[in-house]
Amino acid sequence: MDQAALEKERTEIVKRYRSLLSVCRPSMSKEGRKLIRQAFVFAAKAHIDHRRKSGEPYIYHPIAVARIVVEEIGLGATSVVCALLHDVVEDTDYTLDDIRNYFSEEIARIIDGLTKISGIFDQTSSVQAENFRKMLLTLSDDVRVILIKLADRLHNMRTLDSLPPRKQLKIANETLYLFAPLAHRLGFHAIKSELEDLAMKYTEPEVYQTIVQKLADTKEQRTRFIQSFTQPIRKVLQRENMDFAIQARTKSISSIWGKMKKKEVPFEEVYDIFAVRFILNSPEYREKADCWKAYSIVTDIYQPNPDRLRDWISTPKANGYESLHTTVMSRQGKWVEVQIRTVRMDDVAEKGYAAHWKYKESKSGESGIDKWLRRIREILKSAETDALDFIDDFKLNLFSDEIIVFTPKGELRTLPMSSTALDFAYSIHTQVGNNCLGAKVNHKLVPLSQQLKSGDQVEIITSKKQQPKTDWLNYVTTARAKGKIKSALKEQRKAQAEEGKEILERKLRHFKIDNNPENIQKLVDYFKLSAPLDLYYDVATGKIGQKELKTYASEQEKGGLLSYLRNPFARTKETQAEKETAVDPIRKQLKEKPDTLLIGDSMENLTYSISPCCNPIPGDDVFGFVTIHDGIKIHRNNCPNAVQLMSKYAYRIVKAKWVTDQSIAFLSGIRVKGIDELGLLKNLTDTISSEYNVNIRNIHFDTHHGTFEGVVMLYINDTKRLNNLIRKIKKIKGVEKVSRIGKMESES
Ligand code: MN
Repeated sequence: MDQAALEKERTEIVKRYRSLLSVCRPSMSKEGRKLIRQAFVFAAKAHIDHRRKSGEPYIYHPIAVARIVVEEIGLGATSVVCALLHDVVEDTDYTLDDIRNYFSEEIARIIDGLTKISGIFDQTSSVQAENFRKMLLTLSDDVRVILIKLADRLHNMRTLDSLPPRKQLKIANETLYLFAPLAHRLGFHAIKSELEDLAMKYTEPEVYQTIVQKLADTKEQRTRFIQSFTQPIRKVLQRENMDFAIQARTKSISSIWGKMKKKEVPFEEVYDIFAVRFILNSPEYREKADCWKAYSIVTDIYQPNPDRLRDWISTPKANGYESLHTTVMSRQGKWVEVQIRTVRMDDVAEKGYAAHWKYKESKSGESGIDKWLRRIREILKSAETDALDFIDDFKLNLFSDEIIVFTPKGELRTLPMSSTALDFAYSIHTQVGNNCLGAKVNHKLVPLSQQLKSGDQVEIITSKKQQPKTDWLNYVTTARAKGKIKSALKEQRKAQAEEGKEILERKLRHFKIDNNPENIQKLVDYFKLSAPLDLYYDVATGKIGQKELKTYASEQEKGGLLSYLRNPFARTKETQAEKETAVDPIRKQLKEKPDTLLIGDSMENLTYSISPCCNPIPGDDVFGFVTIHDGIKIHRNNCPNAVQLMSKYAYRIVKAKWVTDQSIAFLSGIRVKGIDELGLLKNLTDTISSEYNVNIRNIHFDTHHGTFEGVVMLYINDTKRLNNLIRKIKKIKGVEKVSRIGKMESES
């Protein structure tokens, strides 16, 4: 590089540093700025010989991260200093001690956290999860570590173009998996959307480019529409002397794509591609009243859809989001999403908790993020969950929206979506969960497996006699409840085995069998169990009783004992062989048909069953999954569980293929949507029952404002028949959409 080019670069570095300072200016103290200057000089010197993959001077990166830290996250001087220094210890010869000596203990501690968590992502997935857990533990010491890491990741995503494709994909996936959910949870809406869009650019480049293009093509038309839509509202707001700004923003690419997939519609039919946002400049004491006043003005002009009113002002989301959302009918006959909020609310929505603190600093008590951290720490501490489970639960808790429910005293609780009464019970107290008999939801008695909805008031009914049961594990969603149930079950089993041990002692005396370890082991082998504990347990539950023990004793007395005396190993060997045939038919079957498991032949032939989560039927692309207790389960390749199973337990996946057989019927379901026409239900059932070999198992219909939505569960032989039926149903008058579903969503 020649002198002139170097000189030009140096000027550019200084320019970028100056603009960093200028974004800091409004709120930062003189000392703060001095410290930032020191950090900049330090980092610039340390990285002087480094370049990024793009060929640019390395220092561009720390400066950019520091800018994100101030501008987009809203942190102060210490964090800016740490952002500038964040790669120094990792990538240069400077040590943590140098940082400590030159800056401070506090800064060194944050840099230490940042250095430790970076680089951990180059490992296998389980190591990654474990490290992510540690990362969150570190976060509980100082949240700034995680926020700076988030800024670092955001800048790396923005500059991902210069990396080789293989690395792009890895980093993009990791971003989707860990960082976007984290940003969401911390309430950084803008960062979350940007991370998701940037990731999608690399994970699904074609879809991404198509949507970008379509957005560009429709931009002018959209601008005109928004202009004419907002005009009448603008006029009234001005007449009422309200101080406001109007923004119209399109949804992020990834959320448009999400809607297209979820609603199964093309781009053109996603009606809420954009939302119109009214941002009011109100003093804090009048915020709520002003927002509702604006709401009233908007809905005086345009008819709202009452089902789509969301009031996150009275009850903010757990991540701090506050806003009033409604959907109104425009004069062009299109639904338009309208968001109403104040400047402060908008700030919090875009910048998340950092902005939240800014407004809430003076108030005492536990802040939302402390609550969140406490919850994370709780999950981290529970020994039951392994690292990967933790990630799954964590993701589950992040992705699904939350529901808000109330205790009988009106105290508010936030739970992940699809939590049940039992989850709620465990969220109150472990003992309440363990003794949960049922619940009253809105004063009506419900089973403990009842799924809760936002706004439910839940009262738990307990009984001292109640104990956790194995099937409870199917009723709960939260990691907390799962962990507590598992450990209670373990305790129960232990206690029962203890009783069983005493019973067995008595019985052995009765049959004159010595109670010694050898004899116990013989019993364990005889009953094909794996440990004495299982034996005691089976005795306690009566599975092994008087009759079974008597048979054993008499067999021992007869030839069994003699042959045992002749060859002490004969008996055990035989049992061992028996055990293998009994316990391991799956592996044997797989050995015989190493490549593909043929299904549909005869149900008895093989221990396989159809997984209820996606209900595959002949003709579907499927795979087998070897379960521990249930033989092989057949899933559809596009079952939502499949991705997870494939990635976590690849070694337990078995290729599977259908062989044609018309004699077995499989349960499947279809969803029908349309306009509520007279006689429609009859036409529908007629069509289904006229089809040969199709049996309706259950039908459920909802009508709502002249539209209907129905779920029909039926027994059917194969996909050909099902597709045929779907085609026929589509032709019925009033039916607009028919789609296949995996399982019955609401059996209750
Ligand atoms: Mn970095």
